[in-house]
Amino acid sequence: MIPYGRQDVTQADIDAVVAVLGSDFLTQGPYVPEFESAVASKVRAKHAVAVNSATSALHIACITLGVGPGDWIWTSPISFVASANCGLYCGAMIDFVDIDPETYNICPCALEEKLLRAATLGRVPTVVVVVHMAGHPCDMAAIKRLSDQFGFKIIEDASHGIGARYDGEYIGNCAYSDIAIFSFHPVKIITTAEGGMALTNDPAIANRLQRLRSHGITRDVAQMEKSPDGSWYYEQLDLGFNYRMNDLQAALGLSQLKRLDHYVDVRRQLASRYTERLVGLPVKLPLEAESCRSSFHLYIVRIDSQRASVSHAKVFEFLRSSGVGVNLHYIPIHLQPYYQRLGFRNGMFPKAETYYSEALSLPIYPNLSHREQDHVISALEASLSE
Ligand SMILES: *Cc1c(COP(=O)(O)O)cnc(C)c1O
Repeated sequence: MIPYGRQDVTQADIDAVVAVLGSDFLTQGPYVPEFESAVASKVRAKHAVAVNSATSALHIACITLGVGPGDWIWTSPISFVASANCGLYCGAMIDFVDIDPETYNICPCALEEKLLRAATLGRVPTVVVVVHMAGHPCDMAAIKRLSDQFGFKIIEDASHGIGARYDGEYIGNCAYSDIAIFSFHPVKIITTAEGGMALTNDPAIANRLQRLRSHGITRDVAQMEKSPDGSWYYEQLDLGFNYRMNDLQAALGLSQLKRLDHYVDVRRQLASRYTERLVGLPVKLPLEAESCRSSFHLYIVRIDSQRASVSHAKVFEFLRSSGVGVNLHYIPIHLQPYYQRLGFRNGMFPKAETYYSEALSLPIYPNLSHREQDHVISALEASLSE
């Protein structure tokens, strides 16, 4: 089976991890801060805080931006559940904003309409979590204008978006947001096995994130409330967690980071190759907005139900039985049983639901060979001419 995504681990990556195993520090050694500085300087953010997953990063990002009971968090229904769960962890209430049917990102027009209604009810969200779906940047300038007008904060869930660019600048520089999050899960652009990172330009936010990832504890005398009893002394100032990344992960991440631009280039070449060869089929192909350079974490096609003679589900099953590990990103979050128990119903976000009835993620990853890609293309052609 050709998977939809796969990590690329080189001998240099393996050597970097093995070297850490023989060193004095397995966790909290020199590699975590080195990886943080390397990512921050790559994407031109002032601060980076590495954690054990993007999910953890989203959680402590919400706490840091003051999310708690009584607050609202909004996000896109077309994302991984973690983009919404982070608000629930903090006791906040969740709502969704429907997607733009072209980019599959949160629709700025739908966001504005919903904000106008929310403002009259006094229910403007504290935070909007925007997701750069498949690596295609959201319309950040429009979202930032709304945040200035309505006073909400912005978290970019850039789990798909490391290496992508918006207006020529790397996603993660937080030019339009308070915090941006990367994931280093193996299917993402670069990996640390499990891992994530929060980026920000605000030193106070960075400081709070650092404390929250490690039990809410500080060893920095300047931050302490009491005077130290001795050099062993530390203080717990927040209710934090153990969300730390370890040095093995950071060494792997540092080694992978060197190939970030190469990975994105290869993904973009594979994406153009798909687009060239699929253009005549009854499928809607990914678009790229003018100000955006997608990282193509995913290559999503939508089966055009008007023009195709076979159903979406049949195409999916045909591809799977032809050895093509297609996937579907994502089941709309509001259709999950857990969210339906919170009161969400089918029909609430129609563009997301239509998307769900048509979308397929085709295999795309750095080591996908042209021969494998050609097999995917012919299998898709065959499935549509059934
Ligand atoms: C993968 C992913 C996450 C979660 O990442 P982890 O590092 O596995 O916690 C969150 N949001 C989106 C959009 C993702 O794709």
